[in-house]
Amino acid sequence: MLDEAEISQVIIESFSQKLIAHLRNDVVIVGGGPSGLVLGERLARAGFRTALFESRLATGGGVWGGGMLMNQIVLQEEGMAIAREYGIRGTEHRPGYWAVDAVAMTAKLTAAAVDAGLVIFNGIEAEDVAVKNDRVDGIVINWSLVRTSTLPVDPLLVQSRITVDSTGHPSAVVNMLASRGIIPPARGEAPMNCEAGERMTVEHTGCVYPGLYVTGMAACGYHGSSRMGPIFGGMLLSGVKAAEAITRELRP
Ligand SMILES: Cc1cc2nc3c(=O)[nH]c(=O)nc-3n(C[C@H](O)[C@H](O)[C@H](O)COP(=O)(O)OP(=O)(O)OC[C@H]3O[C@@H](n4cnc5c(N)ncnc54)[C@H](O)[C@@H]3O)c2cc1C
Repeated sequence: MLDEAEISQVIIESFSQKLIAHLRNDVVIVGGGPSGLVLGERLARAGFRTALFESRLATGGGVWGGGMLMNQIVLQEEGMAIAREYGIRGTEHRPGYWAVDAVAMTAKLTAAAVDAGLVIFNGIEAEDVAVKNDRVDGIVINWSLVRTSTLPVDPLLVQSRITVDSTGHPSAVVNMLASRGIIPPARGEAPMNCEAGERMTVEHTGCVYPGLYVTGMAACGYHGSSRMGPIFGGMLLSGVKAAEAITRELRP
């Protein structure tokens, strides 16, 4: 006989254990789009205690919508090389232009990250950052529903040696510092130029303030790079570059 109270107890106990285990982290990633998922998979696989907070219910960020809600995305050869590592299949529709199913890409990146040991908290957003001794020390979290409900509910804090802004277009975490004058203001995305945007996404991935890194479209938005439309290789490569840089910082 199934006992309803037992089911509730299992959920409450196991979730509490998971959250308590991630109150202190090596790395906290804010945003579960493609750059955050690749970054999280690589850091977790390298043995870092890593948690990812995603404000929506599902990971995948902007991947789901493909181009104009046609749920296919494009990867160039360099991006496809990373995708293959995750068992993501593509079809080379034109030389150098690989078509990839957006749902498969999201599912496989997420599964690989979770299998590697990344712990994902969905429905929870970073509403602020903590700064101590001129260094980002973690994020201030709350249920996404609390913001949309406008209920006055105090948040909790999750500590981290490194915090990563992988929030895509809003560049939400870096803007929490920029709006207070702690770092220069975000420059905003430049008009579309796929070639330049893909290159600059990777170039601008990195540390923007002690303890704070930026990836993907958040890096574009913060540094004023060109936007690039539904080609995603730069997002995957950005996750790879951030993982390498953070590994160097945490394990010099
Ligand atoms: C309006 C719009 C325009 C787009 N334009 C472009 C474009 O010009 N060029 C381009 O390449 N792609 C564009 N895309 C597609 C897509 O956003 C990106 O290409 C790609 O998905 C970015 O990957 P990412 O890893 O940077 O983050 P995203 O895929 O954007 O994922 C970011 C994730 O962070 C989450 N998040 C945001 N704030 C918080 C927070 N405070 N706490 C927790 N989670 C948070 C979001 O819910 C989201 O799931 C666009 C998407 C949208 C919706």
